Amino acid sequence: MKFNEIPYKRPELESIFSELNVLIKKFQEASSAQEQIDLMKSIKEVRNEMESFKTIASIRHSINTNDKFYDSENKFFDENSPAYTSVINTYYQAVVKSKFQSELANEFGEHFFNVSKVTVESFDEKNIELLKEENKLSSEYNVIIAQLEIIIDDKKYTIGNISPILSSPDRSLRKRAAKALYKALELKQTELDKLYDGLVKIRHQMAINMGYENYVDLAYKKLNRTDYDSKDVAEYRKAIKEYVVPVVKKLKIRQQKRLGLDSMKYYDSGFKFKSGNPKPKGKPSEIISQGEKMYAEMSPETNEFFQFMLKHELMDLEAKEGKMAGGYATIIGKYKYPFIFSNFNGTSHDVDVLTHEAGHTFQFFRSLSQPLPEYYYPTLEAAEIHSMSMEFFAYPWMDKFFKEDVKKYKFSHLSGSISFLPYGAAIDEFQHFVYENPNISISDRNAGWLKIEEEYGLTSDKEDNSYLLSGRFWQKQGHLYRVPFYYIDYTLAQVCAFQFWEKSEEDFKSAWSDYLHLCNLGGSLPFTKLLEEAKLKSPFVKDNMKGVIQKIDEFLEKIDDSEM
Ligand SMILES: [Zn+2]
Repeated sequence: MKFNEIPYKRPELESIFSELNVLIKKFQEASSAQEQIDLMKSIKEVRNEMESFKTIASIRHSINTNDKFYDSENKFFDENSPAYTSVINTYYQAVVKSKFQSELANEFGEHFFNVSKVTVESFDEKNIELLKEENKLSSEYNVIIAQLEIIIDDKKYTIGNISPILSSPDRSLRKRAAKALYKALELKQTELDKLYDGLVKIRHQMAINMGYENYVDLAYKKLNRTDYDSKDVAEYRKAIKEYVVPVVKKLKIRQQKRLGLDSMKYYDSGFKFKSGNPKPKGKPSEIISQGEKMYAEMSPETNEFFQFMLKHELMDLEAKEGKMAGGYATIIGKYKYPFIFSNFNGTSHDVDVLTHEAGHTFQFFRSLSQPLPEYYYPTLEAAEIHSMSMEFFAYPWMDKFFKEDVKKYKFSHLSGSISFLPYGAAIDEFQHFVYENPNISISDRNAGWLKIEEEYGLTSDKEDNSYLLSGRFWQKQGHLYRVPFYYIDYTLAQVCAFQFWEKSEEDFKSAWSDYLHLCNLGGSLPFTKLLEEAKLKSPFVKDNMKGVIQKIDEFLEKIDDSEM
């Protein structure tokens, strides 16, 4: 069945809730492990039904936001999700209290209990009002950012379409663009300060209500991190400072030389190559058929996957009227369908969709036969390994997409990936600073950002830009408002993806088989255990970081970028 042909019907919440409650009650009263296992399967089916309709409504709404029917269906799920989550939470409470834990662990593995446990430990009925308030503030942030009016030479831009101008080869234009962007943010800075301050206080209060010292440990549990803590992450950030920051500094000097600039100003960072950024050649339809060829040649498994996506029309890639911005990958559990949504825009982003988002969906495709929905995908830092590594596994085919620009593409992709690490770590360190000191003033908080920014080598000449000088650059990083402590995940995954790149350069087949194994495992293990299974070295070990980064440094050093 094609995606468009899947029948949609609004789920009857009352009957779903009562069905779940009956099943959960039976689970609590079960007299044997087998009975509980059977009940878990029934619970999974009811959840798949409910969650699949929710996903279908949300995909169809995002493809055409003018469609009134799916707009109201989508709102229906938004309104009723908290009640549903609360029912599912009672299920996890029952799991944690099960008399047959060891038998269940034999059937499904230990990790299911870890996930159930942290889910229970990160939710408390007495925080419901605070959670609602948190959602409200974080939606207000989304609205402010989405409605930001950036005026450049009398033309209006939004944060969504300004980036080509920020990287314009015309230095005076990119300066006007950057100035306009920070001016627009400055006009909202007091509101953004207040919103963040409010969120920090609410989150701290929720943690205190639940008996935590501050929000850090609670946030780690909310992200289902069961196998490492904030001390491991602090060590990892230290390794980034020691091994990555110097490499990125060298890359910045090369960029400055390549572009012939006297010094790097705050408006120069987006402009990388004199001859412009690498662009894929051909129309969207040609890029998609190039992708089809690539996956056919890469492996039998990717061929099967991509043909499946095409046959069932599980990709909506081209930009069109009424379509929501951005891109995502998701799953429809009931049908075992992955789905990719994107807006092609003629830049290298289009190829990233076919590698990065396809990497996510390839993993979903491989894991949808896992016995529990909790295992369809892993925690966020592990989930990005599949996508970021696919970007590297696709390297041998990049000449088909970029033609004469292929060398520039690889240099740009690899140097961009490594340059991201210090920024990602700085955003994380800032959040630890904020939540470990929840009562400091807004200006002390911003002063803290300036110090961290300096330590990670992120600063360039701010000239007289008062917004940047005030230490508020972090305000446009939405993760800080929406999902605290989710960001370091991208950097952890990147360090793992680098290892797949190095291995695939040496022996593609063996690297591929480790990657495939990782995708098959889905979310059945925590992050560090998945790494062991995939023969990847943990980023939490300092010496591992040193080795991984050294190889990339050597590779980049060998490329002559002076004419790019
Ligand atoms: Zn991703």
